[in-house]
Amino acid sequence: MGGLFGVVGTDSCVQTLFYGTDYHSHLGTEHGGMAVFGEKGFYNTIHGISQAQFKSRFVDDYKKMEGLSGIGAIDDESPQPLIFRSKFGLYAVVATGLITNKNKLVGELLNEGASFTEMAGGGVNNAEIVASLINRGDNIVEGIASMRGIIEGSICVLVLTPEGIYAARDKVGRFPLVLGQSKDPQKRSFVVATEASSFENLGYSIMQFLGPGEIVLLSSEGIKQLKPEGTEKKICSFLWIYTGSPSSSYEGISVERTRERCGCYLARRDNVQADFVAGVPDSGVGHAIGYAMESGIPYRRPLVKYTPGYGRSYTPPTQEIRDLVATMKLSAVQEVINGSRMIICDDSIVRGTQLKNLTVKKLWDNGAKEIHVRPACPPLMFPCIYASSTRTTAELACRKAIRALEGKDIDDPSEYLDRSTEKHARMIDWIRRDLNVTSLKYMLIEDMIEAIGLPADQLCLYCWQGA
Ligand code: SF4
Repeated sequence: MGGLFGVVGTDSCVQTLFYGTDYHSHLGTEHGGMAVFGEKGFYNTIHGISQAQFKSRFVDDYKKMEGLSGIGAIDDESPQPLIFRSKFGLYAVVATGLITNKNKLVGELLNEGASFTEMAGGGVNNAEIVASLINRGDNIVEGIASMRGIIEGSICVLVLTPEGIYAARDKVGRFPLVLGQSKDPQKRSFVVATEASSFENLGYSIMQFLGPGEIVLLSSEGIKQLKPEGTEKKICSFLWIYTGSPSSSYEGISVERTRERCGCYLARRDNVQADFVAGVPDSGVGHAIGYAMESGIPYRRPLVKYTPGYGRSYTPPTQEIRDLVATMKLSAVQEVINGSRMIICDDSIVRGTQLKNLTVKKLWDNGAKEIHVRPACPPLMFPCIYASSTRTTAELACRKAIRALEGKDIDDPSEYLDRSTEKHARMIDWIRRDLNVTSLKYMLIEDMIEAIGLPADQLCLYCWQGA
């Protein structure tokens, strides 16, 4: 999905920008970049981060950068920030999310006389499309507002200008933006980020979560609202279940506490006898702790992560790299596993291949007696259409099960979504057998919504419901 970070103040911003952007590394694995504005004007630096972590790629760059304001991004789709010379003057842009009507928009803009650089591997950079659409407006704020009306999908934007940073959340708040201020009363410095997980360590506190569609200007004078929030909200539920950092919160709701509540709900609907509960590191851990707290079954670690800095196995673009990361990052603890009955909590089952071939296999190979898998969300039936997603419909575990049971792909999976049907039960049992586990019980959607704590109509549930 990508992550954004911006900082503005009366002192040099570069160290805060460097670490603040790096704190979003769990949200993308392909491109990283930063741009600053200072006495020497605008400066940007962009690198691929698929082979090296953001910090090691940019550690030399950021020491050469100078400026009082800056923006950064981690993104899987487009290298950014990009700097533009426009009728509004020079500015830099970062834009994360997904533009589903990209081809149509690019065609229209080309007809209007726009031109785009060709990205390595083909395609047009999202930041270039966003900037071209902003430039259609009478000013930057109107340009951002009309850009969001035209784009299908979901885009959050930061625009760095000499007067400050314009920050705009996507129109229904599908993905978050949070504002912070320096804890030092002597310092006038403000930050904006996709996640607030960096704030504490960088010396900032949360001021507010931007509302859906809201646009603000951050400067050393403070935060000025330029467009109020809209009325419709559809925030991504998957942020709490998997994507977000455990130390983050969205709409004031903690990711880690939500995962603990998910685990509680899983435990309340379960009666399996087991020797311990475990989470698949890292994103299954909070759910498993919640399960252990509620059930009284001890929490143990049959699998440990080789290094906390290891990349996520979900975000890399090819299955080969995802599998390699997944193979290397988890080590089995045979002394814990051997002869044990275990409840394994994971955030979700996407394709099921890593869980089956790498996690479950490691547990059986090391002497597990029973493996009971408990995903902390319902069966995933649809790939995300609002952020770049590595999953296709056909490769989802549910769809593979349906294909095997029906002998073909079907367009309407509603009977399989309905928990009261025989077809649903057969789909779950097919996945259980395919995973080669003793039992499989998914989180109920009403429990997941309850665990997050927002009304269902304010949450995006597309992954599970297709609407
Ligand atoms: S489709 Fe799924 S991953 Fe995408 S925004 Fe909605 S809940 Fe989040």
